Amino acid sequence: MARDERRVAIVGGGLAGCLLATLLGRRGIEVTLYERRPDPRIAGPERGRSINLAVSARGLAALDAVGLRDQALKRALPMHGRMVHPLGAGQNFQPYSADGERAINSISRAELNQALLDAAEATPGVTVRFTQRVTGVDVAAGLLLLEGPEGAVTERADVVLAGDGAYSAVRRSLASGGGLDDRQDFLEHGYKELTIPPRDGDFALDPDALHIWPRGTAMMIALPNLDRSFTCTLFWPKTDFEALGTAAKVRAHFERHYPDAARLMPALADDFAHNPVGSLVTVRCWPWVRYGEGAVAALLGDAAHAIVPFFGQGANCAFEDCVEIDRLLGKTGGDWSRALSLYQERRKPNTDAIAEMALDNFVEMRDRVSSPVYRLTRAAQHA
Ligand code: FAD
Repeated sequence: MARDERRVAIVGGGLAGCLLATLLGRRGIEVTLYERRPDPRIAGPERGRSINLAVSARGLAALDAVGLRDQALKRALPMHGRMVHPLGAGQNFQPYSADGERAINSISRAELNQALLDAAEATPGVTVRFTQRVTGVDVAAGLLLLEGPEGAVTERADVVLAGDGAYSAVRRSLASGGGLDDRQDFLEHGYKELTIPPRDGDFALDPDALHIWPRGTAMMIALPNLDRSFTCTLFWPKTDFEALGTAAKVRAHFERHYPDAARLMPALADDFAHNPVGSLVTVRCWPWVRYGEGAVAALLGDAAHAIVPFFGQGANCAFEDCVEIDRLLGKTGGDWSRALSLYQERRKPNTDAIAEMALDNFVEMRDRVSSPVYRLTRAAQHA
């Protein structure tokens, strides 16, 4: 296939950026991917930001498009339902499907990102550049503004595809000139990771489930890891984190509200003190595509539509954006303007819908799953 001569820049070497680079490279398009961090395969993950993703059929279909589905599944743990841990009662298992067969997959985000990075780098035509922070885009001049070890520079770009996450610098840059409605809604809740290590060399909880401790306005969840530990994530009002200022207060709080889990967390106070509190944001912006005389720029993944994580669909949605852009490029014979215009029209209603479902599911997970009425209704649905 003849190579496309336009300079295509992908901003962000996260899940979406790496998948899109691979898809475009396979299409014969030369791509440069700019990532602000150093190579994560050398630098290692940040403390308290391990995040394991629940990857569903949508995400797996996208990974299949670059031949990574089986590799991802080999490193995944299937979870066939929720294990709910009510306070003062025994845990109960709620299967995800009536036949008990369907599962979502617990996959390490860092590991998946590295597999996608490997795939991007191995694709002819793809160049990955680390420690390159994009600070803006000038679509009139067709320029990308960057800060790297060599200082501030500009580089030519005819097509800019921004997968630089929820706090996207490209989105900020496009919004600063007007013509882009950029709304970010933060929950009063934040999140913090903790760990349940293996017990006597085995999982301390059932690894076939996504564990939930619903506590009304707050909750904790836990997903299994391949090393037989669990990554727990607290979703609490930010003021609740601040209220627990000493190790003794942390211990006492967990023994009262999460007693079965507290017993399994020897490093609880240390993790709580040192792991950061992350924010939970929904991004609603429009349009996602900006046409200039020199370049066209488009937002994708969390940069276009970050959602709260309670439906486990952010990464799945980001992957679907990439597959859709690639598909539409094929359909339009490589016409970037038409492909990106169709991409935003088709994807926006879907991502708006999932953003609302994700917010609704927070109430379901932290509150409704433990109600006896809810359990009876679900059991009847599955009978
Ligand atoms: P990101 O993964 O955020 O990647 C952005 C990349 O851009 C990063 O590599 C970053 O370093 C780089 N970057 C940022 N700024 C710049 C810049 N200026 N210049 C250059 N590079 C830059 N999703 C699911 O599907 N299932 C789940 O179970 C799930 N659980 C989650 C749990 C939590 C606690 C959180 C916070 C999120 C969860 N998600 C989940 C959401 C998922 O992590 C995101 O939707 C997904 O990572 C989005 O991919 P992305 O590539 O768009 O952005």
